[in-house]
Amino acid sequence: MLSVLDLFRVGLGPSSSHTVGPMRIAKRFLREARKSGHLASANRIEVELQGSLALTGIGHGTDKAVILGLLGFDPETAEPDEAEAAFHQAVTSKSLHVAGQSDIRFNPVSDILYRGDVVPELHPNGMVLRLFGADGSDAPSFTRVYYSTGGGFISSARRLARPAKDDVIEDQGRSPFSFGSAAELLALCETTPMAIDALILANEDERRDREKTYAQIDLITDTMLACIERGLQTEGILPGGLEVQRRAPDLYRKLKAGAGVNEREALFDWLNVYAMAVNEENAAGGRVVTAPTNGAAGILPAVLRHYCCDDEGVPIRSKARRFLFVSGGIGLLYKQRASISGAEMGCQGEVGVACSMAAGGLAAVWGASPAQCLAAAEIGMEHNLGLTCDPVGGLVQIPCIERNAIGTVKAVNAARLALHQSGAGKVSLDQVIETMRQTGLDMSSKYKETSEGGLAVNVVEC
Ligand code: SF4
Repeated sequence: MLSVLDLFRVGLGPSSSHTVGPMRIAKRFLREARKSGHLASANRIEVELQGSLALTGIGHGTDKAVILGLLGFDPETAEPDEAEAAFHQAVTSKSLHVAGQSDIRFNPVSDILYRGDVVPELHPNGMVLRLFGADGSDAPSFTRVYYSTGGGFISSARRLARPAKDDVIEDQGRSPFSFGSAAELLALCETTPMAIDALILANEDERRDREKTYAQIDLITDTMLACIERGLQTEGILPGGLEVQRRAPDLYRKLKAGAGVNEREALFDWLNVYAMAVNEENAAGGRVVTAPTNGAAGILPAVLRHYCCDDEGVPIRSKARRFLFVSGGIGLLYKQRASISGAEMGCQGEVGVACSMAAGGLAAVWGASPAQCLAAAEIGMEHNLGLTCDPVGGLVQIPCIERNAIGTVKAVNAARLALHQSGAGKVSLDQVIETMRQTGLDMSSKYKETSEGGLAVNVVEC
């Protein structure tokens, strides 16, 4: 089993599959090239982006992410300003300064190939990286094929072709309470007997000291809250050319001034403003947590900020941990049984999954039983089935920012419905996950992060 900490990763926006994954892939490629002995004689690098990575790569900032990965940056630790400066230096000099090497030629205009016409065999987000030697030969000296499989996860062609379709995870730990379905998770909760968060924590205990797990999950909470704070304070127009105005700061000012405070609908405003703050930061390339992806990164933080913090916004650790362990456990089910990649599943696999995770986590915070938590997660997905991915201009802005706000409100409502439900509903979480998977497979590629259909073709770019 994966760890919940594999699901929640700190990275730079705007996209986990098109930014975080490609950055990791580029860095990994150079590591493998060095290990194989081919890097020392390298003179030029070429990167071929295939499928969805090519079709929405420019809007999603994939070119920049690739260059940063080749320069040795990590999505988790890259400082946005430092990364920006290094990126511009590489673009201007048309070369890459690789640690311990003489500079390698790399012209972003001619050495990044956008092959939207290629349908990659194993996953829609394919990447081929090639090294060329100093002998001037047209034949690459070292080639690798990778896939960015959603949520910042990556896989080599060799590993993805295996029946288990595993991702490249550095820390493969054992889990005493291993589960492959919601039904198995529920059965474990009943027989042990344990709440979902306690069971997830017991699994994490096999990988590292409990205090270390707490420290890491608290860091995820703090990064989510810091992202909200930056988004609430930062004004301006989002990059990319669509001229989308950041709306969170203005709405936040109104809410702080007490506008609409007596309206019953004020709850929506607070949830909306937190979610939009995160997604506006994400669109601007800021630091966010994949939850489970960057495009859907606003839903969990918004629920966490509203329901797991005090009035000043300080996290109540016990609530925040429970929320993230339960929602993370639900996210693992989607990752294991279907996919969290918009390029494979459409937006139901991103915003739909985030809504489902947040609904289950919030139900747990409200004291729901394991069965009710899973029912909340089921409702959270059931009403996102079929949701397409059609970002205008290939940017993670329209419809993504508002979609996170809507998804947050929907998650809270799903948790409420489940809380008032006695016993299991007619539809199980496993059934809805399988339905999402089948719907995703049936969905035309036009609606799966290619910007070839939906809003992306009907909204005229300014
Ligand atoms: S439409 Fe949904 S899946 Fe597509 S980029 Fe936006 S948030 Fe991600």
